[in-house]
Amino acid sequence: MKIRYNEDEKVVASLKEALEKKDGYCPCRVARIPDNKCMCKEFRDQIADPDYEGYCHCRLYYKEK
Ligand code: SF4
Repeated sequence: MKIRYNEDEKVVASLKEALEKKDGYCPCRVARIPDNKCMCKEFRDQIADPDYEGYCHCRLYYKEK
């Protein structure tokens, strides 16, 4: 299992900037709740699933099996 950034550096740069502006909360979500702090609960649950392979909701990270 491996977590890596999106292979597109421009996507990574713009999402990191968006994350900074939102104080670490997910740039793709409105609610500033603990579950939406990066890495958000949704992605942590996807990481915990051994069968999951793919991007997080914002496509900042990619989980390889
Ligand atoms: S969707 Fe991705 S970028 Fe957004 S909070 Fe979750 S892990 Fe971070």
